[in-house]
Amino acid sequence: MIRYLDLAAQYKSLKPEIDAAIANVIADTAFVGGKYARDFEQKFADYIGVPHCVGVANGTDAIEIALACLDLPKDSEVIVPAYTFVATAEAVVRSGFTPVFCDVAPGHYTISLADLEKKISKKTSAIIAVHLYGHACDMDAILDLAKKHRLKVIEDTAQAHGALYKNRKVGTFGVAATFSFYPGKNLGAYGDAGAIVTDDADLAQKMRKHADHGRTEKYTHHFIGRNSRLDGIQAAILSVKLKHLESWNSRRREIAKIYDESLSGVSAVKTPRVAAWAQSVYHLYVICCERRDELRDYLTKQNIETGVHYPLSLPQQPAFAGYGQLKENLFANTLGAAVLSLPMGEHLSDGDAGVVLAAIKNFYKSSK
Ligand SMILES: *Cc1c(COP(=O)(O)O)cnc(C)c1O
Repeated sequence: MIRYLDLAAQYKSLKPEIDAAIANVIADTAFVGGKYARDFEQKFADYIGVPHCVGVANGTDAIEIALACLDLPKDSEVIVPAYTFVATAEAVVRSGFTPVFCDVAPGHYTISLADLEKKISKKTSAIIAVHLYGHACDMDAILDLAKKHRLKVIEDTAQAHGALYKNRKVGTFGVAATFSFYPGKNLGAYGDAGAIVTDDADLAQKMRKHADHGRTEKYTHHFIGRNSRLDGIQAAILSVKLKHLESWNSRRREIAKIYDESLSGVSAVKTPRVAAWAQSVYHLYVICCERRDELRDYLTKQNIETGVHYPLSLPQQPAFAGYGQLKENLFANTLGAAVLSLPMGEHLSDGDAGVVLAAIKNFYKSSK
């Protein structure tokens, strides 16, 4: 069986360290916030290269809290990519703003600059740039447009821990960047967890209070916040795993290279293209392929797990029908029927990648 993701194998490789980290948190009863949370925040801020990190309960809350603390006008539109995990746009709606869906570009599937410019209106006040599948958006171009139209840029970095844009880590470009540590992400906890990073000290402090009931002193609350705090056990686990993130990401790039080279000769398959500005961390290795469902069934029968990220664009989601963008002719609307996520992660051997590749080639050869 070739697993699409193998968290059990990863735990086995780190078991003594992880078990000790969990035991320490319990011994210290540092369950919510506390020293393990602060310690991870510092380590993660240093890793990304920003002065401030605020740990929160999950990656969706991270986006909501960032939006809540930016003082955007009440009836704002917030531009989000038309193709991303639902949480990016869900957070916009939850925050009381209107999501406007911007197309994505072929090849790397992040925000299309041409469409972004068209989607900016008088009501636009922010853009959420999603580094999809571990590949950086074109941040210079997005920041230029944002500056011209006085828009705030939030980076949704849930899929791109450690990814680079022009040799600098993503998460350092926007006014704030949000991370998810959902177990299956490149850096994942053993439950839900998230973080927001920023270089703005005042914003960091405001977000931290917001995530802790708007608290300033123990029982003094200056504004209505919410409860979204980082759990100590999750933080301690994340501190252990952070030490391995760079080597796991580079192993992902090695696997991607094996996939790229071998699939370049298969005309029914489009491999992901990496833009000149990007070093991807391949949260997902997503091909666009002919007869996707048949290929997926065939691979399942060969004991090869795959995924589909995502079967629908956001305008195609029933939940967003009310925003009226389904009639637009977007490239994003064609992806749901064609994308296939191949097994990806440090658990794969070169031999495993070879088995996946042989099966894909065999499928297209034998069924011509
Ligand atoms: C996973 C993910 C989120 C949400 O993170 P949770 O921790 O699951 O709330 C947001 N945006 C993107 C792009 C994601 O992949």
